[in-house]
Amino acid sequence: MSVLELARPEIRALQPYSSARMEASGGQVLLNANESPWPPPGDGGRGLNRYPGPQPAALVARLAALYGVAAGQVLAARGSDEAIDLLVRAFCRAGADAVVVCPPTFGMYAVSARVQGAEVIEAPLADGFALDADALLAAATPAVKLVFVCTPNNPTGGVVPPATLERLAAALRGRALLVVDEAYVEFAGTPSAAALLPRFDNLVVLRTLSKAWALAGARIGALLAAPEIVALLRRIMPPYPLPTPCVDAALAALDARGVALMHERAALLRAERARLAVRLAALPGVLAVLPSQANFLAVRFADAAATWRALLDAGIVVRDVGRQRGLAGCLRIGVGAPAENERLLAALAARAEAA
Ligand SMILES: *Cc1c(COP(=O)(O)O)cnc(C)c1O
Repeated sequence: MSVLELARPEIRALQPYSSARMEASGGQVLLNANESPWPPPGDGGRGLNRYPGPQPAALVARLAALYGVAAGQVLAARGSDEAIDLLVRAFCRAGADAVVVCPPTFGMYAVSARVQGAEVIEAPLADGFALDADALLAAATPAVKLVFVCTPNNPTGGVVPPATLERLAAALRGRALLVVDEAYVEFAGTPSAAALLPRFDNLVVLRTLSKAWALAGARIGALLAAPEIVALLRRIMPPYPLPTPCVDAALAALDARGVALMHERAALLRAERARLAVRLAALPGVLAVLPSQANFLAVRFADAAATWRALLDAGIVVRDVGRQRGLAGCLRIGVGAPAENERLLAALAARAEAA
């Protein structure tokens, strides 16, 4: 069976929009896309008067090399948020199909599914916020087309062991796609699930340049999957999704120097994460610091609302995740630069003293 049999039949049958850039490339006199023949003021040689390629070849090639896959297995998107939305729209029929999420987890899976009219089935994390593979598979009814697993998980920071991902991909084959969101994997000790792609055509891996690569403002993410899935998603993508300045910024950040800098910074943030976890756990009013493999820590406070307020008064903004399942009293605190982390610790210590 082709993995595309899981997709919406009307999307498989859709005659996609064919843009000028798709129909012809090359040539010196470009009169096929109604563009301006002149660059805008301040263009600096970027050629912003021209539409970008639908999937700029240089960026796709660079992402493929970076993630160790073939170019045909890469879809470059406006952040992994767009990739999540495309998956739901291509695979879930409104009012008929469903997705599985494992709360507490990243909220966009459920939001994208609900916008599409797909049912959201929850397979909550077990005690200690570990993924419950049996519960997840039990939740994967025939209506389920997508199973979202986030590792390291936002907002708890825990990872799913590679053997568990492999088991899930095998068990879901022919039934649903396993979507592994690796937005924070650069901060973790676990390998990417992309190594499993040759064996599982129902596996999708999401990567992003928004976190470790310091490019949240450029909105570049990558979906890694079997070429037929990539081709299907391209059918429903707008014709020119990636702005030229964003593609250029990504290529600049992904050169050899950029790669070395990313590794250096990720190592520093991992060291700061460990230091912060120890210092936070020693503070009065801190009930628990969840073990994290990401660039944030979920921390349970005796009085989270007042702590959140006191930090804001000190000019420090953290995320209140207390409304998420199992996380009452928890704040999600990003790991910052060393001086920022010191300022956070000082503000928390001052508050503990005043209490
Ligand atoms: C931040 C985040 C994303 C979003 O990434 P973009 O590429 O910026 O859209 C995806 N998944 C998780 C779990 C995240 O925390």
